[in-house]
Amino acid sequence: SERTLVLVKPDGVQRGLVGEVVSRIERKGLSLAALELRQVEQQVAEQHYAEHDGKPFFGSLLEFITSGPVVAMVVEGPRAIAAFRQLAGGTDPVDKAAPGSIRGDYGLEVQFNLVHGSDSAESAEREIKLWFPDLGE
Ligand code: ATP
Repeated sequence: SERTLVLVKPDGVQRGLVGEVVSRIERKGLSLAALELRQVEQQVAEQHYAEHDGKPFFGSLLEFITSGPVVAMVVEGPRAIAAFRQLAGGTDPVDKAAPGSIRGDYGLEVQFNLVHGSDSAESAEREIKLWFPDLGE
């Protein structure tokens, strides 16, 4: 079994899509190891998106992710990382995410793509430590 860090970003929370996202995760057969509604601190946002530091959208990405509460979750199950990436769909909700995926069904703009999911085992470990430092193995 594997763990991944999932976020419902401020746009998803604001639009009332938390239940929809959690429902899709559960229906897929994945389970929740942690779930919390929280305001993102600047420092957590910067560390979470450290790989994008220097890119033209970095500033607006930080502004967006700290603009309202997010729902952070640790999602668990066989191949949880790839399984949630499949549920989410590609980064661009129109060009890349297929209909039937979360972004494909509910998103329009790349910045406002509703959810985040860790993209590798290394990212998942780093992100779970960052968001849920007290969660055991
Ligand atoms: P996430 O890491 O949130 O799951 P991702 O792995 O699909 O998304 P990344 O390429 O890591 O996509 O980009 C991280 C986030 O930065 C995206 O989810 C999106 O919100 C934002 N982003 C990416 N590209 C752009 C862009 N060109 N303009 C604005 N925002 C962008």
